Amino acid sequence: MKTIFTLILFLFFANAYSKEINLFTTRHYESDIYLYKKFEEKTGIKVNFVTGKAKTLEKRIIEEGITCKGDLLFLADAGRLVSAEQKGIFKEIYSPVIEKKIPSQFRSPFWFGVSKRARILYYNPDKTNFIEIKNISYEDLSKKEFEKTIAIRQSNNVYNQSLVASIIENNGIKKTKEWLKGFVENFSREPQGNDRSQILSVAAGESKFAIANTYYYALMISGKKGKDQQLAAKKVKPLFPNQKNRGTHVNISGLGILKHSKNSENAIKFIEFLLSPFAQKHIVNNSFEYPMIENIKPSDEIIKMGLDFKEDKFTQVSSFGKWQKKAFELMKEAGWN
Ligand code: FE
Repeated sequence: MKTIFTLILFLFFANAYSKEINLFTTRHYESDIYLYKKFEEKTGIKVNFVTGKAKTLEKRIIEEGITCKGDLLFLADAGRLVSAEQKGIFKEIYSPVIEKKIPSQFRSPFWFGVSKRARILYYNPDKTNFIEIKNISYEDLSKKEFEKTIAIRQSNNVYNQSLVASIIENNGIKKTKEWLKGFVENFSREPQGNDRSQILSVAAGESKFAIANTYYYALMISGKKGKDQQLAAKKVKPLFPNQKNRGTHVNISGLGILKHSKNSENAIKFIEFLLSPFAQKHIVNNSFEYPMIENIKPSDEIIKMGLDFKEDKFTQVSSFGKWQKKAFELMKEAGWN
């Protein structure tokens, strides 16, 4: 009798234990918590989460090794996902459901993109004629005619490293080196601040162009960053580069399942949930990113920026990881602080 009771107790706890996932995330959105609750309601699987910076979370996962309780790591930027993959943090996953939903350039067997963002240009239409710049490419930005015009953040920023990595992937190291020389000379000021601060620089008339991710502009326009930033954003317009060739640089936010995850089945269910129309709608409306799956309307702010642009569908986002270190080296070498 006692043995049976112990067995029942054991099964109860084993089951309770498996009804959860432990998520490590670099996302700091209040709205993500709502998604975790919805997932729990739908599946009975509880989401425990820890937020932190990519490097801190990775360090913890590696140090804890097999004893690490984490099941998933959520990162922004494909370069970071590839770097985590290379450190052996993720396990290989096969899910036909996931594969069907994510276009092949936005996933690997180890990690899966769940939302997209573009890194684009912003200009002031009162000062710059759209007709003159509508066909501009990232490559053009190193030309002499754009001397002292560009506001961009520092070279240690992962989004910039991915952008330069995509240029290496498309044009090779030698050409990228030459491009960087002219590009850095065209900076309007010492690289500083976050993405939104570049847009503010254009609004203030200090710079002709800013480079920043799409969701930052949408966030400013939404008013969530205050009236001043909303007014500033209204003064500038977005511009999607490389429309005459490969298309605009697109990056992802995504996640992978940790090598020592004890709840892989639940973790797969969580990724599948993030790719459901319900979760995708919630993500795009709160983080102002682009959806990963088809037939989901982005937020109104993003729609107003224009949806009829050509995305770079040729460059695998995994190449950002491949070239990121080299990109950073070349950026430093060119004097990009
Ligand atoms: Fe960001």
